[in-house]
Amino acid sequence: MNENVSLARFTTIGTGGPARFLARPGTVAELQAALGFAAGRGLPVAAVGLGSNLLVHDDGVEAVVVKLGGELAEARIEGTTLVAGGGAANAVCLHRARSAGLGGFEFASAIPGTVGGGVMMNAGAYGVEWRDVVLDAVVVDAERVRRVPLAELDLSYRHSGLAPGEVVAEVRFQLAPSSPEAVKATAAELLAQRKATQPTNKRTFGSVFKNPDSGPGAGQLIEQCGLKGYAIGGALISPRHANFIENAGGATSADCLALMAEARRRVYDAAGVELRHEVRFLGPLELPPL
Ligand SMILES: Cc1cc2nc3c(=O)[nH]c(=O)nc-3n(C[C@H](O)[C@H](O)[C@H](O)COP(=O)(O)OP(=O)(O)OC[C@H]3O[C@@H](n4cnc5c(N)ncnc54)[C@H](O)[C@@H]3O)c2cc1C
Repeated sequence: MNENVSLARFTTIGTGGPARFLARPGTVAELQAALGFAAGRGLPVAAVGLGSNLLVHDDGVEAVVVKLGGELAEARIEGTTLVAGGGAANAVCLHRARSAGLGGFEFASAIPGTVGGGVMMNAGAYGVEWRDVVLDAVVVDAERVRRVPLAELDLSYRHSGLAPGEVVAEVRFQLAPSSPEAVKATAAELLAQRKATQPTNKRTFGSVFKNPDSGPGAGQLIEQCGLKGYAIGGALISPRHANFIENAGGATSADCLALMAEARRRVYDAAGVELRHEVRFLGPLELPPL
């Protein structure tokens, strides 16, 4: 257990202060020990995957932050099932699937997270989401370890029913026979599409806001307000895609939050739409009311 470790290097946007405690469990037993440590001190628990949809308060977070490693970040194939530790990177999982000639996970090639973060967010792209391929997940909290079937994970658009303090330690995905060449070609095509429309070579935390249930997407609404390229401090609304915030150099989480608040207010004034944030907050971050 390490104390006061900066989380900026654990987020793709590269901002944020320290975790009061950072645990790096490599097994379920070590994870349970970390969760017990948190419970014993009355501290909340927060899991961090690849920090690719995460904004951490600049003053840090008074919590036990858990970053899964070791066997909890590995992936293997059993028949047509992909079995991945909650901390396994999507890219590693795709590689395993491709090598085994299994398709169905290509959509995740452009989602730079872990499978545990994917469950929490019900991550998705190109019309496929985690809930379409997940069989079940091993969920751990301070009291127990349980295998939760897909239906009970309650996955919907960028939402899961996981409670605070619950950590996804393993996920099983149902894949289907394909060929390594076909998997590689599909993933390459999706990545190329992604590069053409999103700032994939910049420091961002992915989509800032969820798309509204109907009508124009969040990016389009923000763009219609003329905000592409608008900056506060080191945070910039991406000139490439308005639903991304880039760290243009020296950005703080406060800059990002101020930019989010401004975009949200302008969209509300112009279109009457209340944008809801997709990026998850860690620490006492909050958007002002509209
Ligand atoms: C360039 C770019 C493109 C992106 N494109 C997409 C896209 O197409 N589709 C999409 O859905 N997302 C996209 N994202 C966002 C992000 O990659 C996904 O939300 C991803 O699933 C987050 O995974 P993570 O492991 O990085 O989670 P983090 O960002 O670290 O955390 C996100 C949330 O999940 C929780 N969490 C993380 N790990 C666990 C765990 N093991 N157990 C329990 N909770 C956990 C965290 O506490 C937090 O609440 C993109 C991001 C970037 C930077």
